[in-house]
Amino acid sequence: MKLATVITATGTALARIDGDRATVIDGYEDVGQVLVAGALEVVSDASGREVATDSLTYADLVPSPSKVVCVGLNYRAHILEMKRDLPDHPVLFAKFADTLAAAGETLALPPESDSIDWEGELVVVIGRTVRRADEDEARAAIAGYTIANDVSMRDWQFRTREWLQGKLWDRSTPIGPVLATPDEIPDDAYLTTSLDGEVVQRGDIHDLVHDPVHLVRYVSTITTLRPGDLILTGTPGGVGHARDPQRYLTPGSTVTVTIDGIGSLTNTFQAEDLG
Ligand code: MN
Repeated sequence: MKLATVITATGTALARIDGDRATVIDGYEDVGQVLVAGALEVVSDASGREVATDSLTYADLVPSPSKVVCVGLNYRAHILEMKRDLPDHPVLFAKFADTLAAAGETLALPPESDSIDWEGELVVVIGRTVRRADEDEARAAIAGYTIANDVSMRDWQFRTREWLQGKLWDRSTPIGPVLATPDEIPDDAYLTTSLDGEVVQRGDIHDLVHDPVHLVRYVSTITTLRPGDLILTGTPGGVGHARDPQRYLTPGSTVTVTIDGIGSLTNTFQAEDLG
């Protein structure tokens, strides 16, 4: 099952996506509300208004997660090609709800940064409250997966040892377009990032050093994970900052992150209008 949060005439609503058809379901304003209510089963066969998927405008998938936890270097092939040791522990940082944006949204390139970069990522979406989860509890706590572009202001990210200030700009991290339940993910699944149609990143999502179940266990050792919380699992090789010459986003750039079994997250960038 795939679920989205979509914009309607009166606000936002839940939509269940079945290929090129979508069902807009009353009673929930967004996917986050469904997760908090524990209502994935309920909405799996709920009826509603049928529309064409390509007529949808997406809103924030989960508008106000209690936690957004992100992982640094995590793709085995990318770490080895960089001739670095596989990390014993995940590198973690966080984002706020204000950092998140929607699929299809035009994103601002803030004038304070001149090195804004892409990072396509698999996202774990939490469906149950867990603390110190064991392996079975961690697996059961994963409601499904979505896609992120962890857009990063590299000049700000590397000003200091901590990356946070390059990762936290308002509405800089698009998430979506759908929550896909785990059964939607094929055994052979790749993440691909394209910049203006050119493939710039490709990674096997089963090549993570710290996989989704391990990440839920690890993070929940530290802090409670709640329905709607998000874990961004890291990006494969091919970011603009690591290229020679380096490449960054410019006004008019379009980035699409595709993951097999989930779909495609596309956003276009424009210079921020400070009015
Ligand atoms: Mn990242």
